[in-house]
Amino acid sequence: MITKVKKIDAESLAEAKEIILSGGVVAFPTETVYGLGASAFDDGAVKSIFDIKGRPNDNPLIAHVYDGYDLSRIVDADPPYAAALRRAFLPGPLTLVYPSRGKVSPRVSCGLDTLAVRVPSHPGAQAFLRAVGIPVVAPSANLSKHVSPTSAKHVLDDFDGKIPLILDGGECSGGIESTVCDVTGEYPVVLRPGLVTREMIAKAAGRCEASAETVRPGERAKSPGMMYKHYSPRCRTMLFPVGDRAGAEAAYEREKAAGSRAFLLGEEKLAKAWNARGMSAFSLGNTPGEMAARLYGLLREAERRADVLIAVEPAGDGGVMTGVKNRLKKACASEDIPH
Ligand code: AMP
Ligand code: MG
Repeated sequence: MITKVKKIDAESLAEAKEIILSGGVVAFPTETVYGLGASAFDDGAVKSIFDIKGRPNDNPLIAHVYDGYDLSRIVDADPPYAAALRRAFLPGPLTLVYPSRGKVSPRVSCGLDTLAVRVPSHPGAQAFLRAVGIPVVAPSANLSKHVSPTSAKHVLDDFDGKIPLILDGGECSGGIESTVCDVTGEYPVVLRPGLVTREMIAKAAGRCEASAETVRPGERAKSPGMMYKHYSPRCRTMLFPVGDRAGAEAAYEREKAAGSRAFLLGEEKLAKAWNARGMSAFSLGNTPGEMAARLYGLLREAERRADVLIAVEPAGDGGVMTGVKNRLKKACASEDIPH
């Protein structure tokens, strides 16, 4: 199969619509990362998403809809605070988990009685979802466990020859996957941290908790045993806690002495200092937003250029930093973590 990469226009949208409505898959941009889309109503198409990605079939998918889509077609009534969250943050990088009406393929939620729905704000995503007209399941457009894609090139690197069409909407501005928030209970619960933060949700809804898997502001770093790799680059990785710059530098020197192509990863001021000393280092940037936008691109660059990536956690907690640290840990945590 030839994989076409096309700018988003009337012609490519018509082609994308035809592919989706006939049970195929199309990759498309969102403001967070690129998604691998298929009709949420088509059992075979949903199955093919799991197959193409190599995604475990107990990891449910998010249904994406255009702004203005009548949610009551696929999910049940929700508490008033959910309406407040939609008003405050949608369209945008926030996925809400609702009671499902069971209208989409049962494979979407992997047997759960809930359905995760997102309304992305990216104009290309909106144009695509509007053209298709039905809910589109779209996990991140990367092979399972690989780094999420923030450009059409990243998608091509993982799926060249495996999917017919990638809609190219340029680089994703957000950079980390949407916040996932459960709205089936008395108050919202963040299941996955992202750019719409727990603090922002609490402000709009009156209260918001984070599920145990996420690091709350002020919480200490998790023990290595609780960390598992997820969004991983294809090189060895190490993650050092905030403040253990010396440990990271010692690891770098050890790796260099052993002949490895080693790279350090840290916030801008650290990276600049390392570069000034002749060490190879990637800069995450200065602000949490910048770090979110750069992280996955840097992880993909690291796997091309490095044998080992040695990361130092950025300072600060809460807000967008919670999402940045969550992804950095899932990408770089390994048995080597000196926690
Ligand atoms: P991805 O599509 O790769 O960004 O992953 C989707 C995320 O949404 C995963 O973390 C899923 O566990 C989560 N998710 C999707 N549907 C549900 C659901 N019904 N309940 C809870 N989490 C969900
Ligand atoms: Mg993913």
